[in-house]
Formats: sequence, C-alpha cells, structure tokens
Amino acid sequence: MLKEISCPTVERKEKSFANFNLVGPCNLSCKFCVATLAPNIPQLQGNSLNTPVAELPNISMFFQRLQEDNIGWVMLTGLNTDPLLYNYLEDLVEVIHNYGLKCALRSNGYLFFEKKEIINKMDKVSYSISTLNSKTAKDLIGIDYIPNWKKILKQTIPPVKINTVICPENVTEINNMLNFFSSQGVERVALREAFGFEPVNYILPFDAKFIKYFCDNPVFSYKGMEVTLWDVCTTTVDSLNYIASTGEIFSEYRLWDIMKQEE
Ligand code: SF4
Repeated sequence: MLKEISCPTVERKEKSFANFNLVGPCNLSCKFCVATLAPNIPQLQGNSLNTPVAELPNISMFFQRLQEDNIGWVMLTGLNTDPLLYNYLEDLVEVIHNYGLKCALRSNGYLFFEKKEIINKMDKVSYSISTLNSKTAKDLIGIDYIPNWKKILKQTIPPVKINTVICPENVTEINNMLNFFSSQGVERVALREAFGFEPVNYILPFDAKFIKYFCDNPVFSYKGMEVTLWDVCTTTVDSLNYIASTGEIFSEYRLWDIMKQEE
C-alpha cells in the first residue's frame, strides 16, 4: 500500500520543531498506524520504552542539532507507540526543559489519569481522538473503551489541540465530534485523511468559515474553534525528526518518504 503513495514535491519552510519519535508496543492498534501499514521497516524493530534518556542512541547529537538549527520546540510522539508509555518520560521532559526548550506532547490520552502530573508539565498537548463511539473504536483503533474526554479536557492544564484522522469508519462522526470538542472549550482541531487509504468524502459543517491558510493548509472557524484541514503531502511545515530506536536524525517532514525508501 505504501508504495502506491505519491506526493508532490513541496518546498518546506524553516524547521520550527522537532519530533521525538519513541518506538515500542502501543496500547491501541489503529488501522491507520504505521505499525499496521509498514510493520517491517527497520525503525519499528526496536523498543525504546525502557531505555533511560542518557542511553538513547545519538541523544546528545539530537540536542546539539536542535541548538544548531535554532529549534525551540520538541514534540514527544511515537512512531508506533504512545509517548505516555515511555518509562523515563519525567526525565526526558526535565532534560528538554533544562535545555531551555519547550515540550509538546502528542498522545492518544488513554493513560491520562495515570500520567496527569507529567502531562500537565508540558507546554502544550495534542490528543489524537479518532472516535467517541465505542463500536467505531473497536473497529478503527482496536479497543471498545472510550476515555472520559470531558474530564480529560477539563483537567488538562496546557493548551490543547485535537488531531483526528478521517477514515471511512469515522467520517460520518466527524462533525458531531467537532460539536463535542467545541462544547468542551477546545480551540484548535486538525483533521487529516488517513495516509495511504482511499480518499473519503468528508465535508465540513456548512457554517464553517474559511479564515486563513496555515503552512498552506486551509483553516476554518467553527463554533469558536480553528479547524485545520491538514494535508501531510502539501503542507510547507518542516521538522527535524529523531527516531529513538535507531538514533536516526533527519529533516524530512514526511516519515513516509524515509519508510518507502527502506521497504
Ligand atoms: S495510538 Fe498512535 S501509535 Fe498507537 S496504534 Fe494508534 S496510531 Fe499507532
């Protein structure tokens, strides 16, 4: 499937952040996950979840690169796992802050109540929410449990953004989800189609108003929120990437490009 993906060549802007990609087993099994789509790529073969920060491969080089490239934000994320599963997360956040850098977290939120303290030390948080329906969840992310998002959103102190991947399974739910997010005081939502799948026919609510472009992606105003239709192929955003299993540091925004080469 990945080999059929093709994207136009886009000129990327200056790097504004670095993705810190942890690697290991996840507490969900999403259909659109790289672990499902390309399980054999070398970057997914390790497990960095039990490795102390100082022992992660090329970690000093990564922080050096951040300084050289004048990057101020580190986004803690997972290539095939959730960063809240990293056993040295507190240490990692401390190291990042000690370098004078800001720390962002991208998480599925399922461990919120166990990890609330460290989540609230982040400088911003984005939650990946694919559905609020337990039947859809079973089909799309491999679990029929939906966390208490009302409580989670209320108890999260840093600014929150929601990321939602649009798939055939959840496309009819997206607009109701937007209404829920708005009712919970969420201010920013990013919607993107699942990479490597057939396109879905998603249409924003009719009263969503286009307001601007952000990195070449259209942003709409809807019920007090900014809703971005994110296209990973054409966005001009750029980032540095660190892979915690292999220690690779590279600047391509689209990890898929790397993965395709190595298939
Ligand atoms: S939560 Fe993220 S890392 Fe985990 S299975 Fe889903 S897409 Fe993959």
